[in-house]
Amino acid sequence: MLTKDRAICLRVVDYSETSQVVTLFGRLGGKIRAIAKGSKRPKSAFEGPLEPLSFGDIVFSGFNKDTLATLTEFGPQPVRGELRRNLAALQCALLAAELLDLLTEEYDPHVDLFDHFVQFLLDIEEGKAGPERRDILIRLILLQFVLLHEVGLRPMLSACANCKRAFALDGREIYFSVSANGLICRDCEMSFPDKIQLSPKAAQCLADIKQLAQASEATLDEIEQVLIRHFTHILGRPPKMAKHVFSA
Ligand SMILES: [Zn+2]
Repeated sequence: MLTKDRAICLRVVDYSETSQVVTLFGRLGGKIRAIAKGSKRPKSAFEGPLEPLSFGDIVFSGFNKDTLATLTEFGPQPVRGELRRNLAALQCALLAAELLDLLTEEYDPHVDLFDHFVQFLLDIEEGKAGPERRDILIRLILLQFVLLHEVGLRPMLSACANCKRAFALDGREIYFSVSANGLICRDCEMSFPDKIQLSPKAAQCLADIKQLAQASEATLDEIEQVLIRHFTHILGRPPKMAKHVFSA
């Protein structure tokens, strides 16, 4: 039986001289792993080898968790030059693809997450985010919160994750703890050895996400570091692309 969907390519590994195994995130069907037979041949059904971050309409057969599906068609919009030329954008997009792959299950659809990810790619490819790393970081941070929300792991940011009291945001210290899964107030921080103290600006942005739009690049970097700590705690290891996001 053939299944049609629209998908983003998250990951590609060589399977043989001529074929690739691809991890695709389908809008309606969720993540699938599929073999793209002959995709590396000069004349294949796929218009060239498949690349991470390309997206388009797919047709595949074999809707089954235990075996690889077989990809029969993929009409991707190629990764455009802008993303290739902007290293910061490319590395942020590859980190997002890695996290999405690691945190979602096969055949578990997340339509909102798919739509947000496509919009993220379009914004940074078409330069809507501007060439500035700061604008790309804002979009990456928002996308990561959508991802955490969708998989049920969104940290608590509206109040202290331990005592549940709201923050006054009056300059008192605020911490983030991965083991508490959220922000922690000064009265509770002693109980969480893994906590890190946030700068007042980063704490304000996390407690009120709308303030991200005005944040400086340094504050955004601090928030992204906090998110990477959070993902590292969830995954048991740092995401591979994390270090590249800060080296760009
Ligand atoms: Zn507290």
